[in-house]
Amino acid sequence: MKDRDKELIKGIKTPSYVLDERLLIKNLEVLQSIQTKTGAKILLALKGFSMYSVFPLISKYLAGITSSSLFEAKLGKEYMNKEVHIYAPAYRDDEIDEIVSITDHIVFNSIYQYKRFKDKVDRSRREIECGIRINPEYSEVETEIYNPCAINSRLGTRLEDIEGHDLKGISGLHFHTMCEQNSDTLERTLKVVEEKFGRYLKQMKWLNFGGGHHITRDDYDVDKLISLIMHMKNTYDLEVYLEPGEAVALNCGFLVSSVLDIIKNNMDIAILDTSAACHMPDVIEMPYRPHIIDSKLQNQGRHTYRLGGMTCLAGDVIGDYSFDDPLEIGDKLIFTDMAHYTMVKNNMFNGINLPSISIMNDDEIRVIKEFEYEDYKSRL
Ligand SMILES: *Cc1c(COP(=O)(O)O)cnc(C)c1O
Repeated sequence: MKDRDKELIKGIKTPSYVLDERLLIKNLEVLQSIQTKTGAKILLALKGFSMYSVFPLISKYLAGITSSSLFEAKLGKEYMNKEVHIYAPAYRDDEIDEIVSITDHIVFNSIYQYKRFKDKVDRSRREIECGIRINPEYSEVETEIYNPCAINSRLGTRLEDIEGHDLKGISGLHFHTMCEQNSDTLERTLKVVEEKFGRYLKQMKWLNFGGGHHITRDDYDVDKLISLIMHMKNTYDLEVYLEPGEAVALNCGFLVSSVLDIIKNNMDIAILDTSAACHMPDVIEMPYRPHIIDSKLQNQGRHTYRLGGMTCLAGDVIGDYSFDDPLEIGDKLIFTDMAHYTMVKNNMFNGINLPSISIMNDDEIRVIKEFEYEDYKSRL
């Protein structure tokens, strides 16, 4: 990070998420070039990144959004107003009318769900395309809670559960079996999808590759992705959709926090004005260790601290980090890669306020949202 940006970031009130607009644009340009070269359509999965103040910017590059719920669909419709897709494991009777009134693609998890709601779609005056999420029973995700193809998974329909059903009215198939993976995983996945579902693909208008493609990561093989898209388009005469969440906002946001206190219990412990449990829950859930600018791995710098959050949860610990200079109360720490999934998953456990949300570009750093007591109270 440039010194000028670091100074700007350290000048704001903490805690705050800071989205670097220039880095977001860099990601969007990569995604746009894939659309241009292949004709595939790329959608933002709101589940991973819902910061709607930048939807107008994103809409200049991507084909639309995909949603996991009525609320996400509404947000995407309101602030992006391009294609709106939705997939959910099941739809509710009291929400389906509104979903039908704003979406372009509805992906059903099962044939039963499609049959249950197909009349609503048919009666709509808008043109809506229906899809089925398939479970190819092949994935390379090792963490069980992130594996949609685990034994007894509820996500998607297996080949044996599709066979014998009439797919008239279904325009596309959808699979989502990847998580933070490269295009070699996609290649092996598509091979299974083709072997199992190839004869159905020939009747379809589109195939949606889901999310989990780490396209904007440095070592991602974009050329392979392009050739896989072209192979599917040419072999089956289909349109291809991708719906990344993480890859859109990968490495373009920060979380800035201040040191509130430094205590000792066998080691130095710094208490921050942020929290793993509230503001970066994936640190505990995934789990993983976020990077902090100018920090080193535990014990690799001269001064090591355990960094802990403001809640009463004993495990609200971000990790152990080393620094060349000792930390002092008031010092600002900048956590990297905090745009996707953190902001959408945060919470007010313990009544801890949410970080504000800021945008940084060449001209300025601008706070676009701050939270207060009413935000906490209104949910309870
Ligand atoms: C989570 C999810 C996505 C986005 O996944 P990323 O890992 O953020 O790219 C896309 N589609 C579906 C159906 C999902 O569940």
